[in-house]
Amino acid sequence: MATGYVWHELYGWHDTGTNAGLLPGDSSTLQPYLHFESPESKQRFASLVEVSGLAAHLVRLEPQPATDEDILRCHTPEHLARLETESLDPRGGDAGDGSSPFGYRGLDIARLAAGGSIAALEAVLDGHVRNAYALVRPPGHHARPETGMGFCMLGNAAIAIAKAQASRPGLRVAVMDWDVHHGNGTQAIFWEDPSVLTISMHQDQLFPAETGFLDECGGGRGEGYALNIPLPAGTGNEGYLHALAEVVVPAIRRFGPDAIVIPSGFDASCFDPLGRMSVTADGYRAMTRVMMELADEACQGRLMLTHEGGYSPTYVPICGVSVLSELCGVEVDVVHPLYRTFDDKPEQALTSSQRSAVAAAKDRHGLA
Ligand SMILES: [Zn+2]
Repeated sequence: MATGYVWHELYGWHDTGTNAGLLPGDSSTLQPYLHFESPESKQRFASLVEVSGLAAHLVRLEPQPATDEDILRCHTPEHLARLETESLDPRGGDAGDGSSPFGYRGLDIARLAAGGSIAALEAVLDGHVRNAYALVRPPGHHARPETGMGFCMLGNAAIAIAKAQASRPGLRVAVMDWDVHHGNGTQAIFWEDPSVLTISMHQDQLFPAETGFLDECGGGRGEGYALNIPLPAGTGNEGYLHALAEVVVPAIRRFGPDAIVIPSGFDASCFDPLGRMSVTADGYRAMTRVMMELADEACQGRLMLTHEGGYSPTYVPICGVSVLSELCGVEVDVVHPLYRTFDDKPEQALTSSQRSAVAAAKDRHGLA
């Protein structure tokens, strides 16, 4: 069975304006440049999917804009109304925290991004494809019910999951977020929901610095269905694979999902300007293999990845195509020999502090 793939040209038109990375440029010391969340890494990922020849082996899935009904399963009417109002301002607006800018009619593109995640998950659940990658923009995993934040406007993964559950009562979904930042928005949306297990594996206290701790485990009926694995800065391939093997695999086995969703950020890569981790393209490929094997065992291979962060314009495409190559089983090697030398750097080895962080998450959730 095939691998589905979502990309739409409008994802590259989401306008985050000029910026000196994270801060507005000014006339003193911050020369205006691009916002970190610029189209660059995503458009170049989409370009490499074509140029590598991989596109011919993928099933293209067409996104439709998420409707109000889709969005309101996860967000408050006030959040949607504010996005609607600001989206019609010719100067654009901000999704809530002052660092999530969007341009005129930006909500149209955010609806299409959520719609890309929907298209990918629906295709997987319908059996149209075995697995799928939704290369969408803007990202979604920081968007909380009542606000956007961290470059995110709408919770793309959450909206897709909630819609899938609306037409398939009893559907259980496991989320495994490997973006370098905490998947706080997805966690908040499903905080009291035992039908969605949210796991986030992220750099400890990066963003948001005040969430993503071990003791955030869900509330009410959802208690025990949120799981955080904060990892020390510097963690590389071995540390990530150790966390998958020790915590993620047993937690998802125990949960018994009908599908697995991965909010997929490549900002844990060794070249990322916003993360301080050391994962390489081959590390992401190996993580994909682990998650595919887990999906085969737990839920007939049903696996959907939806794109989140990743801010290296040159390395994100390589990580992304490596993951897609693994997903569809068509060998495409886009890793330059120079990049391969990073697979053997000392920071790839598992350290005692990483081992302790993983053991703490394992203990907290009573995983054997
Ligand atoms: Zn991120």
